Amino acid sequence: MYDVIIIGGGPAGSTLARLLGDRLKGLILDQRDLGRSFAGGFEKCCGGLLAPDAQEMLARFGLGLPKSVLTGPQLFAVRTIDLVSGQQRYYPRNYINVSREAFDRWLVSLLPQQVDSLWGANFLGFSQVSEAVEVSYIYGGQRQKALTRILVGADGALSRVRAGLGPGSKPRSYVALQEWFEVSEPMPYFSAVFDPAITDFYAWMIPKNQMLLVGAAIPAGTDVLARFALLKQKLHGQGFDLGNSVRRRGTSLLRPLAGHGLSRGAGQVVLIGEAAGWVSPSSAEGISYAFRSALALARALDKGCEGVL
Ligand SMILES: Cc1cc2nc3c(=O)[nH]c(=O)nc-3n(C[C@H](O)[C@H](O)[C@H](O)COP(=O)(O)OP(=O)(O)OC[C@H]3O[C@@H](n4cnc5c(N)ncnc54)[C@H](O)[C@@H]3O)c2cc1C
Repeated sequence: MYDVIIIGGGPAGSTLARLLGDRLKGLILDQRDLGRSFAGGFEKCCGGLLAPDAQEMLARFGLGLPKSVLTGPQLFAVRTIDLVSGQQRYYPRNYINVSREAFDRWLVSLLPQQVDSLWGANFLGFSQVSEAVEVSYIYGGQRQKALTRILVGADGALSRVRAGLGPGSKPRSYVALQEWFEVSEPMPYFSAVFDPAITDFYAWMIPKNQMLLVGAAIPAGTDVLARFALLKQKLHGQGFDLGNSVRRRGTSLLRPLAGHGLSRGAGQVVLIGEAAGWVSPSSAEGISYAFRSALALARALDKGCEGVL
């Protein structure tokens, strides 16, 4: 039996696994094949910007970033664009621009040997069996089970672990769409774009080497594709030449306005990172929250698994 099984090897799950220490027997699993270095292909839908809070957490962990996770250009200015008035402003803010897939794999490469890992494993659900939690997953085409004292849901915005805890209030849900465009010159800003006809949250443009990433968080249940098309049309109208579209990805994004819908879990099931709803309701930055919530749980587990919540 494991002390801790972690579902999800994103920044929250891999950080907790790294901090588990020697006393606890841990298993981490993820549906992504995170055990290999990134060689292109599917990329997690993310802006890949490490904001100052995330940088501070990396420094607290004593971690420096390897060159292999960096992408260009590095960003120290935010350009805000109001599509209604046409006004633009700049303010200084420093972001480290990374390849999100390479970043996640680098975090996973730091896991200590004593933590078991299963990559390409799909978590199905859990149930209480006597004093333990029984975890079901598919690995290598086979349905498998494992017992644990504590189950940690670090499985992101669409957390199946959280769903298994039953209905409860969740943060407001958005659809995040991102489209990649080939450009000849990278734009040296992170642009935050505002227009209530598109979203009450915001849209963004992020340069990634010779690509420009255009994204928006649009309220779920609205005509997301039409609103995204309107965003591109309005950006074009403001003189932004978006170039050739290369690919588009979509995912779910939570927005815990006034902390609504945050959950720590219940009993022996604990939630961290975006599974718990931890993401900035103003900027959608979540990597620092993933780090912080993993650190908080690791500290609580240091005192033992009993009553960890
Ligand atoms: C479009 C977009 C752009 C963003 N840009 C930024 C940004 O620039 N900077 C920033 O700080 N934050 C950004 N965020 C937020 C950030 O991506 C998340 O807050 C952060 O990734 C949360 O980390 P996590 O470890 O909690 O979850 P995740 O990173 O989502 O990791 C969850 C993991 O669980 C795995 N998983 C899920 N379900 C299962 C299952 N059933 N079985 C097995 N594995 C499973 C997934 O494969 C994944 O690896 C963005 C979010 C979106 C949607």
